[in-house]
Amino acid sequence: MKPHNDEQQLPNCETVIGAAAVPKVLSKAFNIPFQSTLVVVEHNNDKLTPITLNAITAASKLGGEVSCLVAGTNCATVVEQISKVQGVKKVLVAQHDSYKGSLPEELTPLILETQKKFNFTHICAGASAFGKNLLPRVAAKLDVAPVSDIIEIKSPDTFVRTIYAGNALSTVKCNEPIKVFTVRGTSFEAAPTEGGSAASEDVAAPSPAGISEWLEQSLTKSDRPDLTSAKVVVSGGRGLKSGDNFKLLYDLADKMNAAVGASRAAVDAGYVPNDLQVGQTGKIVAPDLYIAVGISGAIQHLAGMKDSKTIVAINKDPEAPIFQVADYGLVADLFKVTKSAE
Ligand SMILES: Cc1cc2nc3c(=O)[nH]c(=O)nc-3n(C[C@H](O)[C@H](O)[C@H](O)COP(=O)(O)OP(=O)(O)OC[C@H]3O[C@@H](n4cnc5c(N)ncnc54)[C@H](O)[C@@H]3O)c2cc1C
Repeated sequence: MKPHNDEQQLPNCETVIGAAAVPKVLSKAFNIPFQSTLVVVEHNNDKLTPITLNAITAASKLGGEVSCLVAGTNCATVVEQISKVQGVKKVLVAQHDSYKGSLPEELTPLILETQKKFNFTHICAGASAFGKNLLPRVAAKLDVAPVSDIIEIKSPDTFVRTIYAGNALSTVKCNEPIKVFTVRGTSFEAAPTEGGSAASEDVAAPSPAGISEWLEQSLTKSDRPDLTSAKVVVSGGRGLKSGDNFKLLYDLADKMNAAVGASRAAVDAGYVPNDLQVGQTGKIVAPDLYIAVGISGAIQHLAGMKDSKTIVAINKDPEAPIFQVADYGLVADLFKVTKSAE
């Protein structure tokens, strides 16, 4: 059998090698790697963070078994939720005070211990602040190169990710013995939260590293839907001209049960807080409907919203680049049209 990590030599065999259909016994007999993936679960001890469901879908596409690691302080509810998710075979649970705040310094030794015991071929998490914070550290400790923010899985060792602010796609073949990657949530459907019946198993928590300490967090409270999972997003840019004028968008958003987003120019000008920023250096969103108001459509902004199902743009400049990606465009003064929408 030819080595599975040479894509050229195995043009038709990728799916066979990566498929769930390769049973453990065959994989041992023929020395074919048995795919098994660990998804590191993001949660707040009470609820699962939705991007974990997208990461589970990505993990399922690799073939083989999907296990989830839930590390927390008092996370029985999350364990119950995750064990019902379709596609999950096993839930590994570690509870310890040191997992408060999901510090990478504490979670990494746990993941390394878990990896020693179970020998996963892949380790992944959502490409959120949690995953971006944690998995590069895990990869460094395993001495492998991580693949970040993947948008497609071609085979168990070949992933697609965006480069140049989403203007080009890069297909990455990863020859590392353990593939460590983060998953762009908007590129994979959420795994169904019912229908699974995974068994749970406790894993021993290694002694706390104790090199950092979780003190507190202050979260923005909002009655509006979360920006990254909202079905409708109304975003404003520098064209709004002031923070006060964003009230037009808040009112519109409340009528549509929408989240409010913003361009970086609006954030930098202090119109809105930076957790509203959409784009390459902000949040990636892909709602059913994205309404861009007074936003020019710079590539860095498009990188965060161009996968939205329907894009509506309101801009007084008919040449604004946002119209190139918009399904519906309104060349108009935003102050006139958003007022008349009230
Ligand atoms: C490394 C890097 C990362 C970046 N990351 C991000 C990012 O994550 N997100 C992001 O958004 N940007 C990002 N940027 C900045 C980006 O390049 C643009 O500067 C920014 O997106 C512009 O924001 P804007 O469209 O609100 O402002 P402008 O480009 O100034 O556009 C304002 C628009 O409003 C329109 N307008 C003005 N008045 C009205 C009116 N009365 N009615 C209707 N339309 C009106 C104008 O015609 C114009 O098109 C990044 C840049 C760099 C270099």
